[in-house]
Amino acid sequence: MRHHRRIGLFLATVVVPCLVLVALGLRIVLQDRELAEKRAAEERVRQVDQVRKDALSRLAEIRLRVAAGQHPAGVVIVAPVKSRTQVRDTEIEQGERAEFIGNDPAQAAEHYRRAPGPYARLLLARALHKSGNLAGAETEWRTLLNAPFDAADEHGVPFALYAADRLKTLPPRVFEQLELLPATALYLLKSLTGDPRVPERIAWAERAEAVAPELAALAARYPLEQVWAPFGDPPWLAGAVRPLQGGAAILLAVPASEVLPPPDAGGVELGSAFPGLRVHIPKQVNPPAGVSHALLYSALSLVLAVTLFGGYLLWRDVRRELAVAQMRSQFVSSVTHELKTPLTAIRMFAETLRLRGSADHRMHGEYLDTIVHESERLSRLVDNVLDFSKIERGRKVYHFEPLSLGDVIAAAAQTMQYPLAQSGFRLAVEADSGVPTVRADKDAMEQAVLNLLTNAMKYSGSARDIALRLHRDNGHALIEVEDHGVGIAPAEQTRIFEQFYRADQSVPGAGLGLTLVEHIARAHGGEVGVRSVPGEGSTFSIRIPVETGA
Ligand code: ADP
Repeated sequence: MRHHRRIGLFLATVVVPCLVLVALGLRIVLQDRELAEKRAAEERVRQVDQVRKDALSRLAEIRLRVAAGQHPAGVVIVAPVKSRTQVRDTEIEQGERAEFIGNDPAQAAEHYRRAPGPYARLLLARALHKSGNLAGAETEWRTLLNAPFDAADEHGVPFALYAADRLKTLPPRVFEQLELLPATALYLLKSLTGDPRVPERIAWAERAEAVAPELAALAARYPLEQVWAPFGDPPWLAGAVRPLQGGAAILLAVPASEVLPPPDAGGVELGSAFPGLRVHIPKQVNPPAGVSHALLYSALSLVLAVTLFGGYLLWRDVRRELAVAQMRSQFVSSVTHELKTPLTAIRMFAETLRLRGSADHRMHGEYLDTIVHESERLSRLVDNVLDFSKIERGRKVYHFEPLSLGDVIAAAAQTMQYPLAQSGFRLAVEADSGVPTVRADKDAMEQAVLNLLTNAMKYSGSARDIALRLHRDNGHALIEVEDHGVGIAPAEQTRIFEQFYRADQSVPGAGLGLTLVEHIARAHGGEVGVRSVPGEGSTFSIRIPVETGA
């Protein structure tokens, strides 16, 4: 019952808090993870929103600039088709007739001079040149060279560029207006200059011109003034804007890579402002959450480890205490039993003597011997218990004096002679005469030898030979008690010296005899030892240092 209480207590104080701690820790980790996921989702929405906003604001700026009549770099513009065909002017018609049918360039030049516009200037220069008026032609071309680039023919080639071709020079500020030129004009320019910006621009213009036809188709499908419709691969964004001065809408296309992350079919949708467009937005990793998890895990493991280790120590202590308590209670019943046996014998023989008187002289003597020896046994037992109690309280005092161990073993053999003979034991005593004296407590040494002899009797089984020996062993005196009895298993041999420990429960005993022998040997600066083979017998020894100088 007490066991169960202790186990219950252990569970309540260690295991339950541990489990609660683990459960709480796990809950925190899970909650934290959920929170982190929620935060990541929110962060993603914010991220996508940011990408969309950035793109829309850049595109809005481009639209505005185009509406204001600018041409931002990298943007394809398809302006509403202005009729570039020249207004048929009667003077021009007459001039052409004079130039090509009448073959009279001078006459033609007169007609052209009367016609307005840069186209007429170009024709005039040509006619002047043909008529041999080179200076006049050059003057016209030089004037044309400064004409704005939107004065162009039906292919979009500015007249200024034709003049430049004639003069083998470049129109002023031509590189600032490169993006206004179609590919055809750019090829003409390329023949006039080796500048690398021109081929670069040609590549762009060809790409842009390829895109232009699609813009018209998209304008029919989407409200391009509100949305940016993706098309092509790599994708472009198509939009439209009305010029600030009014008029038909201008279509424009911007490479998506200019304003948006790369497209990705499995990516994120950017919403109705970019119909059908999905882009790749990298997921953000959240390092702070990871760090706090690692910290939480290690703190939890540390707390668990410490708690479990403490629990283990507690458990070990409780187990030891339980074992000692059990042995103590066994000890009480063993001692009671041990006391009862000699007391019963004493009472029995004393009562017999009283009843029979001294009729039989021989019996009388025998009974008295028994009473004396049983009371001696009783004293030894009581001495053992008292000594043990003194040792436990640290009160045991030894009286050391120079002592002949030969005398000690002779006295012990004498004391045991009667009980040995009664049980049919043969005791062989073998004492070297050359063993020097030791400094020892006479009563304690005798008690130790008697305890070993009593054990030899108790654990002899059916064997009846016991040997008691005294030798010198280097600087030590060695007392040995040998029996041929039950022996001791190797695993038990170290434990039999513990208090209350009893390997063989079939024989009565208190489990104190060897504890005292060991204590006495240690108190004398010596040690006890045992050699034993189960079923063959045991030899116990006490080694005590001899007196120095002896
Ligand atoms: P007790 O003899 O009262 O049980 P001891 O402390 O004298 O207590 O001995 C402890 C245990 O050692 C015994 O219970 C017994 O099992 C074992 N033992 C002691 N002496 C011998 C021996 N000579 N032969 C076999 N076992 C022994």
